[in-house]
Amino acid sequence: MRAGVIGAGIGGLAAACLLRQRGYEVDVYEKEALPGGRALTIDAHTSLETYRQLLERFDMWVPFARPSLEDIFAGGLEGYRLDLGFHLMGGGDQAAPMQILSSLGIKQDIIGSRLGFIGESVDYPYLSLTDKLAMLPRIMQLLLSRKKTIAALERVPMSETIQKYGRGKMKLTLELFPRLITTVNDLHRISTGETFWAQRELMGSHPVSYPVGGLGSLARNLAHWLEGHGGRLLHREVEKVVIDRGTARGIVAETEEDYDLVVSNLPAQDTFTIADPDAFPAPYVREMKSLEGTGSLCAWYALNHLDSWLLGKAFTFIEREAGVEGNDAAGMIDFKTACPETALAPSGKYLVQAYIICTPEEARDPATAARLREVLDRHLTRLVPRWEQHLEWALYPAIWHLDGMAKTIDRPKPDVVTPVRHFYLVGDSTKAKGVGINCAADSARVLMQKLDAPG
Ligand SMILES: Cc1cc2nc3c(=O)[nH]c(=O)nc-3n(C[C@H](O)[C@H](O)[C@H](O)COP(=O)(O)OP(=O)(O)OC[C@H]3O[C@@H](n4cnc5c(N)ncnc54)[C@H](O)[C@@H]3O)c2cc1C
Repeated sequence: MRAGVIGAGIGGLAAACLLRQRGYEVDVYEKEALPGGRALTIDAHTSLETYRQLLERFDMWVPFARPSLEDIFAGGLEGYRLDLGFHLMGGGDQAAPMQILSSLGIKQDIIGSRLGFIGESVDYPYLSLTDKLAMLPRIMQLLLSRKKTIAALERVPMSETIQKYGRGKMKLTLELFPRLITTVNDLHRISTGETFWAQRELMGSHPVSYPVGGLGSLARNLAHWLEGHGGRLLHREVEKVVIDRGTARGIVAETEEDYDLVVSNLPAQDTFTIADPDAFPAPYVREMKSLEGTGSLCAWYALNHLDSWLLGKAFTFIEREAGVEGNDAAGMIDFKTACPETALAPSGKYLVQAYIICTPEEARDPATAARLREVLDRHLTRLVPRWEQHLEWALYPAIWHLDGMAKTIDRPKPDVVTPVRHFYLVGDSTKAKGVGINCAADSARVLMQKLDAPG
């Protein structure tokens, strides 16, 4: 059996490896020079022109840079490696990409941590033992609930759950984590059940982690495994999926190749750039085309000094009355990328990453981006009071396609199975556990379950 996978993002590569493990002959088509999709890591060899192309291809722009982008790329990046924007994996060894890598026998080191909170005081960890004990009965009740109970909560907005259960630190917890888990600020749009699913999956693991060697090492490791096990990574842009009487039969990328199975790793809403919409039911096409991603403003701060107590830690915050949809905006500042073992900065320098959630439109709006940048800088000042004196450069990339599709109460993500036979979707815009990298990787496991299912 031959499988053609379109896109070497985390979802596409994970699917390709799992298919290869099942004995398929696998070809992965990737239009970019580097595998990894939105989870790629660039370095000083990346030209400003290439960086600009990547920004455009992955729905991003850089509203601010200190000094200018031109100056940063003219030598400032020497010795640094950075991802397209802030990245942390939800969970440690329990995260879906980690479980897939481990099932393939690939060793990937990570730096995991708990989470702190920047409020009236800076607390690390965010929950003290006393807080945990006070909240434990309620949390256990929710997290250990039977699947049926959680499923019933899927249609309950988080705002309603907060009204019911939100007191003291529990209220703050319910205001903060669902936002961070979904990358959506509006609590009316966040599903209580969905959030608890994601949280339950990661129980017992580090709340957040970052791969040693940069985020791009996940894709590099998967691609390396695939090629080492007889799969092929072809740097070609796919023009078309060949669909004949409701069945996918091949891929056109310079030449036409026949496949028994075609898997698209494109964001679901881009499916019809490579597949003829007339081969699908019209309501399906309409629904898919209308899907929306999530947004954020990220920041990379390159510092030449950092107090060692911060290394490896991550801090969350909520900016009240932030002038964004949902009123309050949640964000994070992370110092895992500043750890020397990640090798993302030259010796004696520290790369700090931050992000604040907003909608896709807000991420495109210069005035909102300016307000949110000020929020990020202000929260960094709480942790590193004189960071501006130690600043080598700062980059603030904004993205309006962070998660492939906003996982909200009103819009479930589409299934990996499509109405066209033998044509499947994987990636963060499909129905799988968690969001972002976790969802992208888990979608590959969901696909395997569907293929293994009888009939
Ligand atoms: C700035 C930023 C910050 C983020 N922060 C986080 C975070 O903190 N935590 C988290 O979990 N997630 C985060 N994410 C999301 C995470 O990066 C994505 O969820 C994940 O990388 C998506 O993987 P994917 O497999 O779904 O698809 P993608 O990464 O989009 O991969 C799709 C691939 O398909 C290729 N392709 C497209 N069209 C074609 C074609 N016609 N032919 C061949 N190839 C094609 C693309 O080049 C790409 O490589 C962030 C994303 C960004 C951009």
